[in-house]
Amino acid sequence: MKYVIIGNSAAAVGAIEGIRKIDTDGEIIVISKEPYHVYSRPLISYLLYGKTDEERMKYRKDNFYEVMNCKTILGKEAVKIHPERKEIELDDHTAVHYDKLLIATGSQPFIPSVEGLESVKSKFTFMSLDDAKDLDNSLTPDSKVLIIGAGLIGLKCAEGIRKKVSSITVVDLSDRILSSILDKEGASVVQSHIEKENIEFILNTSVAKFLDHKAILSNGEEVDFDVLVLAVGVRPNINLIKEINGKVDRGIVVDEFCQTSLSDIYAAGDCCESHDITTDQNKVLALLPNAYMMGECAGTNMAGGEKIYDKAIPMNAIGFFGLHLITAGSYEGDVYTQNIPGQYKKLFVKDGLLKGYIIIGNIEKAGIYTSLIRDRVPLSDIDFELICRKPSLMAFSKIERKKKLGGVIHGY
Ligand SMILES: Cc1cc2nc3c(=O)[nH]c(=O)nc-3n(C[C@H](O)[C@H](O)[C@H](O)COP(=O)(O)OP(=O)(O)OC[C@H]3O[C@@H](n4cnc5c(N)ncnc54)[C@H](O)[C@@H]3O)c2cc1C
Repeated sequence: MKYVIIGNSAAAVGAIEGIRKIDTDGEIIVISKEPYHVYSRPLISYLLYGKTDEERMKYRKDNFYEVMNCKTILGKEAVKIHPERKEIELDDHTAVHYDKLLIATGSQPFIPSVEGLESVKSKFTFMSLDDAKDLDNSLTPDSKVLIIGAGLIGLKCAEGIRKKVSSITVVDLSDRILSSILDKEGASVVQSHIEKENIEFILNTSVAKFLDHKAILSNGEEVDFDVLVLAVGVRPNINLIKEINGKVDRGIVVDEFCQTSLSDIYAAGDCCESHDITTDQNKVLALLPNAYMMGECAGTNMAGGEKIYDKAIPMNAIGFFGLHLITAGSYEGDVYTQNIPGQYKKLFVKDGLLKGYIIIGNIEKAGIYTSLIRDRVPLSDIDFELICRKPSLMAFSKIERKKKLGGVIHGY
């Protein structure tokens, strides 16, 4: 059996490990545009911050491909799939045959069309190790940086470069930062914390046009800058599947086995849609653990095993300048809030189930809330009042506790 994986990141690693649990002999070939050993993409901001280096960013050890008996074709792009002859065409015009194929191509930065953008010489996106290195090379202690986009990627970039530059301004169309994961109140807690680092936010507005290194905003303000970072969102890489008439929506559409609508072709990670169990909707969840789990599911099924992926929820655990936050699920239903000093906490309950939460500050034990969401535990089975105040296994019934502790409960 010959397995080919396009992409060399979290979803690809999940797939390789999934395949090898079942098939120790089949040939695995990994193709990636990026020339690097697999690395943890979220760490690119820590690289700039100086908290890590390229060696420590590796997502798996140096001998990973050897141990997994995988061949790699790095620094090459897959440009077309020929499903009729089960071949992938690469940008150097060579072809690679497959029996089972995984698309793990992730996403790419969205570049907005703004008048005058082409006149900005020093402009960057922030998605890859090369992006981080290029941005780093352009910065000086006098640099004034303008970041468009106050989402996770824009703010992680701001954190990464703060100590290296003279000023950072972040502009966003939304009325709050991190608008896809935080409510207004929570966003203002995080914004105040980041502002203490001398990062300025201009919200509720966008860039109407660029005049060289000046941004004219729609609200009339003008921002001078030396370096521009575009972080307005990402788009899943779906073209390889779309071109051969595979089913796509915003992302590649897969079933619960992570198979596309095409025979012997699977897909996993940020290039795909997942079924969000908290809203019962398909959506692109651009999250590393989700990419790994989808990849593992796809790999298992490619190798002849049977695994379904039915636990996808949106979930983010991040920190900015020492403030930690964790969010999960959807924000619908009744809201339970807790006024605990140093912590912002909201739990969302609907139809007797915990659907989502936002915690800023002390995020210890938030995993208990995540497991209530993922396992769809009826709140009537637990002491929810206790769990709202203090997430603890004691709020579960004796049987549930035993399951969670792998059969062991001390004192019983
Ligand atoms: C700055 C930043 C911070 C982040 N922080 C977090 C976080 O805190 N928590 C979290 O859960 N997630 C975070 N993420 C998101 C996380 O990195 C992604 O969800 C995860 O990397 C997705 O993995 P993937 O394998 O699906 O794809 P990707 O990591 O996007 O990798 C896809 C790979 O495929 C390659 N490729 C694409 N097309 C082709 C082709 N045609 N031929 C060959 N190769 C191709 C690409 O070059 C790339 O190497 C962050 C991302 C960024 C950029």
